[in-house]
Amino acid sequence: MSADVTLLWLRRDFRFYDHPAMVVAAANGSAVIPVFIYDDHVETLGAAPKWRLGEAVGHFADALAEKGSRLILRKGDPLEVLRDLIAQTGARAVHWSRTYDPASIARDKRVKAALKEDGITAQSHAGHLLFEPWSVQTGKGEPYKVYSPFWRAVKGRDIAVPLKTVSELRAPSVWPNSENLSSWRMGEAMKRGAAVVAKYAHIGEDRAQGRLAAFLRDHIDHYKELRDFPSAGATSGLSENLTYGEISPRAIWHAGWRHVQEGAAGAEHFLKELVWREFACHLLYHFPDLADANWRNEWNGFPWRPDNKDAEAWRRGMTGEPFVDAAMREMYVTGTMHNRARMIVASYLTKHLMTDWRVGRRWFEDCLIDWDPASNAMSWQWVAGSGPDAAPYFRVFNPRTQLEKFDKSNEYREKFIFEGQANPPQSARDFFDAIPRSWGLTPDQTYPSPIADLKGGRERALAAYQRHRDPS
Ligand code: FAD
Repeated sequence: MSADVTLLWLRRDFRFYDHPAMVVAAANGSAVIPVFIYDDHVETLGAAPKWRLGEAVGHFADALAEKGSRLILRKGDPLEVLRDLIAQTGARAVHWSRTYDPASIARDKRVKAALKEDGITAQSHAGHLLFEPWSVQTGKGEPYKVYSPFWRAVKGRDIAVPLKTVSELRAPSVWPNSENLSSWRMGEAMKRGAAVVAKYAHIGEDRAQGRLAAFLRDHIDHYKELRDFPSAGATSGLSENLTYGEISPRAIWHAGWRHVQEGAAGAEHFLKELVWREFACHLLYHFPDLADANWRNEWNGFPWRPDNKDAEAWRRGMTGEPFVDAAMREMYVTGTMHNRARMIVASYLTKHLMTDWRVGRRWFEDCLIDWDPASNAMSWQWVAGSGPDAAPYFRVFNPRTQLEKFDKSNEYREKFIFEGQANPPQSARDFFDAIPRSWGLTPDQTYPSPIADLKGGRERALAAYQRHRDPS
């Protein structure tokens, strides 16, 4: 093979529009070999994220093939795989887009250092975020720990316009061999649930762009008022696509910014939400323990319950609290959950059921197709009260008053809770086709009575908090 070959190591950046690493890899006219590596990080993903990643990979492989390129698939240690491909192809450079969770950073550092020692150009690029985590600092040169000043620090910044779509990738004269995606069985742990979630997922760059366009056309004006109503369909749904890089945050930012300038009422609020994602990555980058340790030390020793049978009822959407159960079933059926519902189920688990936030964090990690290590960890700690910029512990969502407020017409509840309805919609029925058979749940069951007394649960949580703060 010729020497002007470049490897493009794809991980969470399955797009052609605004792809800095791809633009650089293709820039000097060299042949580009796109590679996806099934490594330990992929192996250890939860069931739904692994399935969804497999779909993203398969979809992008087809998109590359349409452009006369290919996606080379390999399993193994990334450094060994890349070295092997370099030996086979004569490539002189490897490019990739940065991700910022601690495990990815450690892996990428090791790969970069070793390839450089080999005399290979190894270059990481931005693309996953609007702002590199080290580029946003307080006046004292420290990371931000509170969202509002973070937002104030970034909102006026110039953000470069998205890069043009890469329309062509020059093929090498000979392609290296590739493994077969289906042999990796990335949907295996989802079992029959994969077929259900597939109906609701929006896979690939075209769907992501379509979603953005539809959101800007139909919902951005009312985003601020309606974003908290789970049945309003008023949010963008783009977290799924951002997770796999099927759209860039910069593309969303600029599209949203145009609407700010045109005076769309909800546009700035939408950008603020997008910046919550940045803030989460910023926190995880600077505080790598965020997913495992209480961010506030004073929470260590709090008597949260470890996993327990109430938490199992929570996981199964069988708590007898319709808002909580609708939300948990939504996640099982669609692979996502509305943001307000996420806050309510997290509050219910950590406060009414007094269960450790890490139990919930892990379940989301297994079930969400938009699972993001930073947003998930930050948000669980935020709701539990133990995190940076957290909601105070005494803010306990009451799932019934929340239901009255945010699902007055019962639309959300009926969409996902089958029991008790004369004509339940398909989405409610889908739950029983998605869950493991071993749960033994069937559509003809009776909807359960509440497993927790809301008033008593709230008081118990608050009393535990008081005792923990003031043991005397
Ligand atoms: P939109 O309202 O359209 O917002 C646009 C984008 O802004 C989103 O796509 C997302 O990237 C970002 N965003 C919006 N709200 C938040 C937020 N509160 N925190 C961080 N980013 C936000 N989001 C994930 O992407 N992955 C997760 O694993 C995840 N876990 C969560 C766990 C809990 C307990 C909670 C309370 C929230 C979690 N979130 C997570 C944040 C939020 O719920 C989702 O980003 C949002 O529901 C996605 O829907 P959307 O794309 O329609 O958002």
